[in-house]
Amino acid sequence: MYTVTNPATGERIEEIGNATDEEVRAAIERVHRGYGSWRLRPVTERAAIVARAAELFAERSDELAEIMTLEMGKRINEGRGEVGIVVDIFRYYAEHGPELVADEPLVLRNGAAVIRKEPIGALLGVMPWNFPCYQVARFVAPNLVLGNTILLKHASICPRSAAAIERILHDAGVPEDAYVNVFASSRQVPWMLEDPRIQGVSLTGSEQAGISVAAEAGRNLKRCVLELGGSDPLIVLDTEDLETTVNTVATARMRNCGQSCNAPKRMIVLSELYDEFVDRLAKRVADFYQPGDPADPATKLPPLASVAAADEVAAQIETAIRQGATLRAGGHRVDGPGAYLEATVLTDVTPEMNAYREEIFGPVVLVFRATTEEEAIAIANDSPFGLGASVFGTDPARLRRVADRIEAGMVYFNKSGGSEADLPFGGIKRSGMGRELGALGIEEFMNKKSIRL
Ligand code: NDP
Repeated sequence: MYTVTNPATGERIEEIGNATDEEVRAAIERVHRGYGSWRLRPVTERAAIVARAAELFAERSDELAEIMTLEMGKRINEGRGEVGIVVDIFRYYAEHGPELVADEPLVLRNGAAVIRKEPIGALLGVMPWNFPCYQVARFVAPNLVLGNTILLKHASICPRSAAAIERILHDAGVPEDAYVNVFASSRQVPWMLEDPRIQGVSLTGSEQAGISVAAEAGRNLKRCVLELGGSDPLIVLDTEDLETTVNTVATARMRNCGQSCNAPKRMIVLSELYDEFVDRLAKRVADFYQPGDPADPATKLPPLASVAAADEVAAQIETAIRQGATLRAGGHRVDGPGAYLEATVLTDVTPEMNAYREEIFGPVVLVFRATTEEEAIAIANDSPFGLGASVFGTDPARLRRVADRIEAGMVYFNKSGGSEADLPFGGIKRSGMGRELGALGIEEFMNKKSIRL
C-alpha cells in the first residue's frame, strides 16, 4: 500500500493500492517497447528533452517542495533547495551528456578502433523517501540522455512525489513509454529483476534492501548500482575558528532532519579541542529542540519522515545510553502525534555498543575523542560503512595526507557532504557499489562497445 501520512500531525491523507502483478508486467512491457524507439532518437534530441525537464522542475519547485513537506516532513526551504539541485543535474546532463556519450577513438598497436557508448535497455529504479526528487534525478537524467528507459518504483510513503516527477518528465517530452512510474511493492521487485526485459537496477536505500536487490540482480546477471547507508566520519584536526566549525557541523548533521546517507554522523575531534567542541555543540543543537511545522520557513526542527522512523532512532539512543554512552544534549521524543525527536549529542560511544557500528538515520551526533591524527584515522575507518568523510583543518598537506588514508568513496575538506551534478557520488564497503553523477554516473548502465575499424 502507498500512503500519504503527514509526519508533522500523524494525519493519514491518502492511500493508493499497490499495482497488481499484471499491471507491473504491463509497465515492464511499456519500458521495454519504449526503449526500441527512445534509443534511436539522436542524443541531441534526448538532451533537449532533458533540458526542458530541468526548466519544468524549476517552474514547479514550490509544488514539489510542498509535496515533500507533506509526505516526509522536509522543511519547505530545504525542499526548494533539493529541487534546485535536481534542476542543476538535469541541466548538467542536458549540456554535457552528448559529449559524455560521444565515440572515443582508440589507436591500437595494429590499427584503429572506436568505443561506441550505447544504452543497454530498460532499467528499474528503486528509490527512497529521504530525497524524493534528488535521488530519482541522479539516476534518471543521465540514463535518459544515454538512451535507456526507466521503470521507477518509489518509496511507499511518497506516491505524490513519484507522480509529480512522472508528470514533469512526460510534459517535458519524455515519451510515456520511456519513463513509467509504477506503484509496485518491494515484494514484486525480485521477479521484476528476473524479467529478461529489465537490464539493470539502481537502488538507493537501506542495507537490507540493497542486499536483497543485489542478490536478485546477481542471480539474474543484471547490472546493479547500490547507494546504501553511511556513518560518515568528520575529523577535526585543528581550527582557527571553533565556533564556525561547530556551526558547520551542527547544520550539516541537522540537514534533512539527519536523514541523509552522507551526513556527518561521527565527529572525531583531537583531544586539544574535544572538550570545548562538545560543550559548544551541545549548546548549539539546543536550537533544534523546538518542534515546528515544516511548511513554516522559520521552523528549525521538522518531524522525521514517519513515526516509525522517529521511534527507531529514539530506541537507538536509548540502547546507546543503556550500554554506557553519555547523553550530552537532547535525546527525547517530543510528545504528540508527530514524528518529532530532539537533536541529540552522544559521547563515550565505544566499540562494544551498537551505536558504534549502526547508522543512525536522524538528528543524532556522536562525538569521539582522538589523541592523535593516527587514532582519528583509525576510528574513522573502524566502520562497516564507507560512503563519505570530511576532514577539517588548516594545513592543506595534512588534509591530503589524512584523506589518502580514509576508507570512503568521497572525502571533503573543511565542508561536509553535499552533492554536485559533476562530482561522482558513491561509496565502498557496506555503503554500496557504483557511482552516480558526473562523468562516471552515466557509464554505469552503458555498453562501451568496441568497434574494430
Ligand atoms: P528502504 O531501504 O526500506 O526503502 C528504500 C526503497 O527500497 C523503497 O522504495 C522501498 O520500498 C524499497 N525496498 C525496501 N525493501 C526492499 C526489498 N527487500 N527489495 C526491493 N526493494 C525494497 O528504506 P526505509 O525506508 O525502510 O529506511 C530504513 C533505513 O534505510 C534508514 O534508517 C536508513 O538507514 C536507510 N536509508 C538510506 C537511504 C540513503 O539515502 N542511502 C535512504 C533511505 C533509507 P517500500 O517503500 O515499498 O518498502
